[in-house]
Amino acid sequence: MNLHSYDELVKSRHRLSLLLFLFLNTASSIFTMLTTVDNRKLITIPVVIIAVLGVTGLLFTLLRTQKLHKVLNTYSIAMGILWAWHITLKYHQIAPDDKNFLLLSLFSVFFISAIALSGNFIAFTLHVLPAALMVIYLDQFHNIIRILFTIALPMAGFSLHHLMQKRSDAFTRRLVDNLYIEREKFSDLSMLDPLTNLYNRRGLENRWASITAPMRPQSHFVLLMDIDHFKAYNDNYGHTMGDQALVRVAAAIRDNVRSRDIVVRYGGEEFMVLLTHVEHAYAQKVAQRIQQEVLGLEIPHVFNEDVSTHVTLSMGIASLTDRDWVAAVTHADNALYRAKNNGRNAIEFAQEIPVVQEQPVTSLA
Ligand code: GH3
Ligand code: MG
Ligand code: MG
Repeated sequence: MNLHSYDELVKSRHRLSLLLFLFLNTASSIFTMLTTVDNRKLITIPVVIIAVLGVTGLLFTLLRTQKLHKVLNTYSIAMGILWAWHITLKYHQIAPDDKNFLLLSLFSVFFISAIALSGNFIAFTLHVLPAALMVIYLDQFHNIIRILFTIALPMAGFSLHHLMQKRSDAFTRRLVDNLYIEREKFSDLSMLDPLTNLYNRRGLENRWASITAPMRPQSHFVLLMDIDHFKAYNDNYGHTMGDQALVRVAAAIRDNVRSRDIVVRYGGEEFMVLLTHVEHAYAQKVAQRIQQEVLGLEIPHVFNEDVSTHVTLSMGIASLTDRDWVAAVTHADNALYRAKNNGRNAIEFAQEIPVVQEQPVTSLA
């Protein structure tokens, strides 16, 4: 469930209430047209209009789903006025013989509102008000107490119900909002490595799935990096220092690629960078810069003595062609293996890529 589906739910509630409202008005108007009081037909122009409006409204609502909230209010006031008009027309004919005509008429209008519009206070009021005022006027205030009671009682109950409904709606919305935010937060957290704040493998999969742009051959590069002799570092400097070194190396990698590049803690002391839409020479420059930056951190590592007295990285680089992720990682891994064998603190390209011979780079364009 998300905000969108909650909004959809609210919308469908309005739609159902509009459909019910139109149906009840249509049914009530047809019933009025078919019945007689003392052999006198109750058919009037407004009642015919209500029937026609009801049927067309029903068809219109079934075909349309947008902006129904405003439509409901418009229908309510229109139907309310038409019922008031109908009551006025029939009053002089029927009222002398039927003392309860006004009250019964008012009841039937309230009945429709109470059933169909209980979730919408404005529409409810718009529908009942014209008939209520008209009945008070026609009755010349004779039964004012009874009429007011008829109006006030359901209105009071309805207002209370409406208030409770509004509160419960607001509460549900807040709940859904929070649920949605929490879900996003957890989803983000589940994609990040807590130590380095880089993406973990799940994050990589997610980001990778979102790269949908067509890929030119060799326009993306996978850089696989592994800290040299890190087991020895841990064994001698301790796990806490090891963690701190990992955090600093991770930050150095992140700081030396573009924000759109995907940086992943691929394993314990292994990192991966996915450079998207770049040329081979650019990938090489980035790799060299990361290598220099990590060395430049000057994290003491005397057990790395065959390479340096500081923490160093080895790297394997492979191009990502035809979205073949597995092949790219395998190639990068093989290249990394060669970098390790070639003495570490080294960068190796997967065999199929021609190596651009360049001087070590100090800055990037
Ligand atoms: P090589 O140069 O061949 O990569 O040697 P290495 O010692 O780095 O490789 P190895 O795979 O033998 O050791 C990796 C070490 O990384 C083992 C483990 O102690 C350390 N490590 C992995 N994850 C963490 C971590 O989260 N924190 C710390 N402090 N150390 C870690
Ligand atoms: Mg390793
Ligand atoms: Mg290592």
